[in-house]
Amino acid sequence: MTTGDILQGPGERLAMVREAMARAGKLAGRDPADCELIAISKTRDAGAIQPLIDAGQRIFGENRVQEAQRKWPALQADNPDIELHLVGQLQSNKAEEAVALFDAIHAVDRPSLIKALAKALAKTDRRPVLFIQVNIGEEEQKGGCAIADLPVLLERADAAGLEIAGLMCIPPNGLEPAPYFALLAKLAGDHGLPRLSMGMSSDYETAIKCGATHVRVGTALFGPREPAPLS
Ligand SMILES: *Cc1c(COP(=O)(O)O)cnc(C)c1O
Repeated sequence: MTTGDILQGPGERLAMVREAMARAGKLAGRDPADCELIAISKTRDAGAIQPLIDAGQRIFGENRVQEAQRKWPALQADNPDIELHLVGQLQSNKAEEAVALFDAIHAVDRPSLIKALAKALAKTDRRPVLFIQVNIGEEEQKGGCAIADLPVLLERADAAGLEIAGLMCIPPNGLEPAPYFALLAKLAGDHGLPRLSMGMSSDYETAIKCGATHVRVGTALFGPREPAPLS
């Protein structure tokens, strides 16, 4: 990111990202309307988020339940058409709160969470769109289910009455992401899952060329992030 990018306002950055998305979609022979932009607003306060809402952005993503609970009810009171996505790890004991707040959950990755989500969904009419996160680079530190465990996890979800809409991944840092996106797309295709959550600020155009239906973009919209507070 250059200094010029930082000097731009949120509206201009949003327009730039949308243009780049449309270009990538067109190059791939896709309908630009087939990919949704999730503005990742983790660590940003309402003052940073409001200008993007004013510029027309309606889908936002957070990675922590508690942070989202602090920030979003007030913003949503003024903008009831906002869609909120959880893109970070979810602890089973927060499943109920997550179902109450989020319209989509991107990091379903283990049987215990499937169980907790099924229990939470039984108590409400809310039906967030669910993605299984796959540890696509088979990295020890990274969240997501192992590629080999995906079929079993999908069976568990089915048995628990959960509809899984698609797959999500975060490719390994510093490696060419396209082969990982292509692999996730293949896995989704093999299992008949229509949605693909993949691509961040540095690689969302590549992800769109590989079939992303949801890109998760933070810094390209908001500017550089401060280091996350320890918790
Ligand atoms: C922070 C985050 C993003 C956005 O990252 P940027 O590089 O700022 O675009 C996307 N997905 C997940 C899961 C994240 O935690």
